[in-house]
Amino acid sequence: MAKKDNIQVVALACSDCGRHNYHTRRNKANSRSKLALRRHCRWCDKHTVHKES
Ligand SMILES: [Zn+2]
Repeated sequence: MAKKDNIQVVALACSDCGRHNYHTRRNKANSRSKLALRRHCRWCDKHTVHKES
């Protein structure tokens, strides 16, 4: 079983409109840099870069 201490829930915010559209879990031990993922934003109605906030 993985250590819970290393799992962190983060919000992903659209870089265009700034709304928080997604939540994801990340492993602090494996990824130290900030996340930036391309996801569909329902508010912009297109794929935008979503950044960890
Ligand atoms: Zn957006």
